[in-house]
Amino acid sequence: MSYTGRLAPSPTGLLHLGHARTFWIAFERARAANGTLWLRDEDLDPQRSRAEFSTAMKEDLHWLGITWDHEMRQSDRISYYHAALGQLISSGHTYPCTCSRKDLAQSTQAPHEDDDEPIYAGTCRTKSSGPWALEPRPSLNYRFRVPDGEIITFDDLHAGPQSFTAGVDFGDFLIWRKDNLPSYQLACVVDDAATHITEVVRGCDLLKSTARQILLQRALGLLAPQYFHCDLLRDELGMRLAKRHDALALRSLREQGFTPAQVRARFSL
Ligand code: GLU
Repeated sequence: MSYTGRLAPSPTGLLHLGHARTFWIAFERARAANGTLWLRDEDLDPQRSRAEFSTAMKEDLHWLGITWDHEMRQSDRISYYHAALGQLISSGHTYPCTCSRKDLAQSTQAPHEDDDEPIYAGTCRTKSSGPWALEPRPSLNYRFRVPDGEIITFDDLHAGPQSFTAGVDFGDFLIWRKDNLPSYQLACVVDDAATHITEVVRGCDLLKSTARQILLQRALGLLAPQYFHCDLLRDELGMRLAKRHDALALRSLREQGFTPAQVRARFSL
């Protein structure tokens, strides 16, 4: 199968050096394999996504020297995510959840490092068994029922062998929100499969999300791509570069007079 990769930025702020490095690695790996690259605009977060950031991130990636072959936007694809939810309801892999928690609000974002989804206590797990639970009701939150105690393993092409235990490292995670939006986990799996992604390149703070996504792929009968999780770029205090590090936004570096080649040279620091 020929190499197909993707860049999946979220338009919730300006791209900084940390994102740029991951996207550069994704671009280089696709280029080295003579492959195809998708730009996937992960614009599902209704509170934080902005069209201006989508425009800015594409401009910044181009400025850096990154090109891609195809483009898609997650907000155009709700019907596909909804179909996947229907499939998971019919196969009993998911249940509606009426608990209202902070993780619901955060679920359309990829969990990064210290903001991972908390382990769900399971309150609605048993409440929800019954024929009514089979009716798709998009106005409810839905969680994926994880196989407690099962060890999910995969060989990461960069980070090496990985192993996570369902129910211990992560619990029943959200796949659908009652405002009729899929979670990051579900949208990611549906889109990676729809675009026949063969290799996912992203930051290593998403390793645990990969274990969740492998369970979703299995439940939906989808092939799993290979994974390459990059090291995270940290600042001088050892903190992950986040969007609050405005000085390291590609835009600021460009305004300060750095050339794309000089910015790329900083990736190896
Ligand atoms: N949009 C996600 C992020 O910005 C990317 C997650 C992924 O590559 O799967 O963190």
